[in-house]
Amino acid sequence: MARAPRSVKGTRDLLPPETAVWAAVEQTARDVFARYGYREIRTPVLEETELFVRSVGETTDIVGKEMYTFPDKKGRSLTLRPESTAAVARAFIEHGLTSWPSPVKLFYMGPQFRYERPQKGRYRQFHQIGAELLGDPGPWSDAEVLLMLVRFLGELGFTSPTVLLNTLGDEASRAAYREALHAFLAPQREALGEDSRRRLETNPLRILDTKVPAERELLAGAPELAEHLNAESREHFDAVRRVLDRSGVAYRVDPRLVRGLDYYTRTVFEITAEGLGAQNAIVGGGRYDRLIADLGGAEVPGIGFAIGEDRLVEVLPEPFRERASAQPWVVVAALGEVGGGEALLLAEELRAAG
Ligand code: AMP
Repeated sequence: MARAPRSVKGTRDLLPPETAVWAAVEQTARDVFARYGYREIRTPVLEETELFVRSVGETTDIVGKEMYTFPDKKGRSLTLRPESTAAVARAFIEHGLTSWPSPVKLFYMGPQFRYERPQKGRYRQFHQIGAELLGDPGPWSDAEVLLMLVRFLGELGFTSPTVLLNTLGDEASRAAYREALHAFLAPQREALGEDSRRRLETNPLRILDTKVPAERELLAGAPELAEHLNAESREHFDAVRRVLDRSGVAYRVDPRLVRGLDYYTRTVFEITAEGLGAQNAIVGGGRYDRLIADLGGAEVPGIGFAIGEDRLVEVLPEPFRERASAQPWVVVAALGEVGGGEALLLAEELRAAG
């Protein structure tokens, strides 16, 4: 006999009461983001493959190994979105949102797809809640985005999320650093693994992301990005930090934080949470001043983040979870032959009264 159908590996069903917790998290995001002037955007789950190749970057793991890409019936290459910033950027250009009052503030929530090895906190269909601020190059926007995130997490009951912060500098700083890192690593090429050896030529910054212990040791002596920042990049980063300091947001500068996507410039950040093991990042984000222009749009800078909703729900503080899954119950007990009908009508009266 054929076995009963099962869900696809790396995907899962969300059942009640867990779905109520998800809905409450999403409602909190809507409430908090609205206070900062964000409005919702919904983009398709399917995009042309080219969009992600051009934005996320050909040499990244996402594009190189993890995308659900297939030809449609006419042979066009389509991809299930692995992230949504690129899709928002595409929509921004396609609908001419440069004509809207600037900055344009958009949030989204929905499933993303990456062909990764499933484990705790890592799925092939996962969910992100994200926001993008488009049109302002200044450091106050970076700070505002981070304050919004910390407020959102605070309203869920996270008391002291760990914010990791770094700057990649502008393009000139980044190029100078890329060269310095390459010069440092090239003579030690043989000590690098296959992946890193490839990255050395394509995208050496990505090597800083490595989890290989021997490579991490080697990197301990590597030049620091901070030493290659030009004055403007440094001032931008300092301004972000000054606002955070004044707001009392706890953060740690992590000079090794580079993030895995190609489009980031200047400020990048991650927020991690306890209790998730190796997959402990619940938020990732950063500034992407070149993305819209690189995709063929105007020179519009942007900054944004994506929250991993699956992971967030896994480590959600208990009081929020309890409140979210509590249901007001009224029991109408039906007795006897006619009781069922009477009980139904009585219940309807209660429902009509809200
Ligand atoms: P990224 O788009 O890679 O910057 O990821 C942003 C956030 O999405 C991460 O911090 C995770 O919380 C979450 N995330 C990324 N990939 C996965 C996955 N395969 N499964 C679950 N959550 C993920």
